[in-house]
Amino acid sequence: MSKKIEQILLQDQFSKDDIIRLLQSKDDEEKALFVKSSEIKLENIGKNVHFRGLVEFSNICKKDCLYCGIRAGNPKVDRYDIADDQILKAAKFAHEHNYGSMVLQGGERSDSAFVDRITNLLKEIKKLSNNELGITISIGEQSEETYKKWFDAGAHRYLLRVESSNPKLYSKIHPDNDEHSHQTRLKCLKSLQDIGYQTGTGVMIGLPFQTYEDLANDILFMKEFDIDMVGMGPFIEHDQTPLYEHKDGLMNLNDRFRLTLRMIAVLRIIMKDINIASATALQAIDPLGREKALKIGANIIMPNITPTQERANYLLYQNKPCIDEGADDCTNCMEARINMADGEIGYGQWGDSKHFKNRQ
Ligand code: SAM
Ligand code: SF4
Repeated sequence: MSKKIEQILLQDQFSKDDIIRLLQSKDDEEKALFVKSSEIKLENIGKNVHFRGLVEFSNICKKDCLYCGIRAGNPKVDRYDIADDQILKAAKFAHEHNYGSMVLQGGERSDSAFVDRITNLLKEIKKLSNNELGITISIGEQSEETYKKWFDAGAHRYLLRVESSNPKLYSKIHPDNDEHSHQTRLKCLKSLQDIGYQTGTGVMIGLPFQTYEDLANDILFMKEFDIDMVGMGPFIEHDQTPLYEHKDGLMNLNDRFRLTLRMIAVLRIIMKDINIASATALQAIDPLGREKALKIGANIIMPNITPTQERANYLLYQNKPCIDEGADDCTNCMEARINMADGEIGYGQWGDSKHFKNRQ
């Protein structure tokens, strides 16, 4: 007979089977899981929710991930690359509105002109904010040298999702070539840690072929890798991608949403002091999705401060929220939402991962 959820929640250590059991919990069991994860969040992280002003600066990408709407092989995407002065303007907005931090995210490119451009942008952002704005970057796999260059220029956190810790599943959702290797992804995560970044990873939840055991292994991977921050969200199919052909075998969107909440809750219980982002994709399924995630374990939210005219072209998945709002609307809406989730915005603070500080 399987263990009772209440019994598992009293433990300090969790086996893979315990994690699977928690991930499969429903109704009252799910409620007990969420009560526990909220308590752990409050005890270890407190009520503070930290902002990361998100600039999706370009949808130009050399990769062909089979799930992603802006993959290189999608001819229907209107490609954009926001001019440097617009990126700096968004950074200034984040600084002036006391966001504390920003995220520069975009499609993967690694030619030397691009690397130098990002290096300069990072330096400029540090300058315009008197070193007050913390910077996370998320521009995919790069050489160790590039990661180091960007770190020296002022970025101190990097988000690179492992997408799945299972190499077999990874190979089913990526093209079969050296450009899309699971080994390289792991090597990149290791380089980021060695350089001294607060290192973030994450997975998509509800992918075709994914099992509960895969997800339990993902959580154990994050723990084993001693990751500092996690951003994970539901997989949402996009009809201009190869993975769309598997749409009929997917869990329904609401189940993917609930499972994502349970993943966040279990991760919070197992990694008490890391930063966990409440992913935008949650809001694509449930208008209050991000607030629900904050309540049960997440502590980071990424208001979109990308210039509005480009937002509609960064469609990783369909029904992406907030593509027609300006940065000011986004902040106001965010404030109300965080209050609703009984959180307090950590204005003006970097909101670094406590886990990172604790492991130094
Ligand atoms: N290009 C960089 C990279 O891949 O790390 C950063 C941008 S990429 C668009 C950010 C994340 O979007 C990916 O790590 C992936 O998990 C997520 N993503 C892409 N397509 C998605 C989809 N259809 N549903 C949910 N998340 C998706
Ligand atoms: Fe490019 Fe990132 Fe999308 Fe992959 S997930 S195609 S690397 S933008």
